[in-house]
Amino acid sequence: METTERNTERARQLFEELGGAVLDGFPNIHSQVHHTRAGTPYLKRPGVVVLAKPQTNLAGLGGFLVGFDPDLRFTEYLDDPTTLPDSSQLCKTSGQTCYMSFGPRRTTNENAAAYIERLTSAGHGSVLEHSSFNFLLYGISRSVTHELVRHRAGAAFSQVSQRYVSGAVLRFVERPEYQEDEELHMTFEERADRAAAEYEAMADLLLERQEGGASMLTADYRTDARKKVQQTARSLLPNETEAPMVFTGNVRALRHIIEMRADAHAESEIRNLALRLFLCLRTVDPILFGDYELGELPDGTYTVSTKNRKA
Ligand SMILES: Cc1cc2nc3c(=O)[nH]c(=O)nc-3n(C[C@H](O)[C@H](O)[C@H](O)COP(=O)(O)OP(=O)(O)OC[C@H]3O[C@@H](n4cnc5c(N)ncnc54)[C@H](O)[C@@H]3O)c2cc1C
Repeated sequence: METTERNTERARQLFEELGGAVLDGFPNIHSQVHHTRAGTPYLKRPGVVVLAKPQTNLAGLGGFLVGFDPDLRFTEYLDDPTTLPDSSQLCKTSGQTCYMSFGPRRTTNENAAAYIERLTSAGHGSVLEHSSFNFLLYGISRSVTHELVRHRAGAAFSQVSQRYVSGAVLRFVERPEYQEDEELHMTFEERADRAAAEYEAMADLLLERQEGGASMLTADYRTDARKKVQQTARSLLPNETEAPMVFTGNVRALRHIIEMRADAHAESEIRNLALRLFLCLRTVDPILFGDYELGELPDGTYTVSTKNRKA
């Protein structure tokens, strides 16, 4: 089997092994919710859902292409028999617009993978910035999101506000190291119960102070009052508190993030997240993410790498 085919097959298998599914063309890898004996909810791994992806209006080029000398045969561009994922098509059309490569000598969709590889291997990644994907991420800890939001270029984040939400939605994330060790697992559960209870107790105390007229906690509106209590009470929450977010990245940024964060040197929780991002992206667009290879580390976790780094 060719290396590319083998990689595709391995990625498909792993996507399924991790519980991946595709709903109406949108991949997801959900994460189950567990509860401590006292009932505190927690998750053991990241949940990743593709919320949105490009939709490319190729036919829309028609009115533009028809305006050139018919001898150039530009309108044949619209009749390519090979259909691409919209995200690949968008990047390929963007690149081909640079050289007005719409005529018969252009790279056809059948050879799109080679076309994209020429861009990534030459570092012409700006073309990849046209396609973006949007994700819902959950089952991720506050420490992981702190690492993810360090990626500034081409990324957007809307993360849960611990000032606005109450203890009713408080959940925790158990690190893989704790899951495999009975004692560490028990201490994690106890800590999660304790943090949830301490948060509630602190919120109650602060509310009492607020009702007693404490100046630091006064507020004109109900929402402000709640916010002042929660912004103070959150100070005791641990790094292992869940911090869901909607995360958006263009393909150039996503490739860079996967390369940095699914690397053997990356922290294991973010590596698990980057692996899932990659598997969802590879499922939805095997061309833009077709040059990546999966590797397995001694601890059973996976790396994702490419020779075309930092396109
Ligand atoms: C294994 C690992 C360990 C780490 N350890 C630490 C640590 O100990 N302490 C710490 O603070 N951080 C640490 N980081 C975070 C790291 O330093 C980066 O902040 C993070 O990975 C974001 O990557 P990036 O800088 O490539 O930025 P991105 O925002 O992802 O940008 C992508 C690329 O765009 C370009 N770019 C973006 N912004 C600018 C800019 N302002 N000016 C010029 N070019 C720009 C750069 O080429 C950059 O590589 C670690 C990251 C990893 C993966």
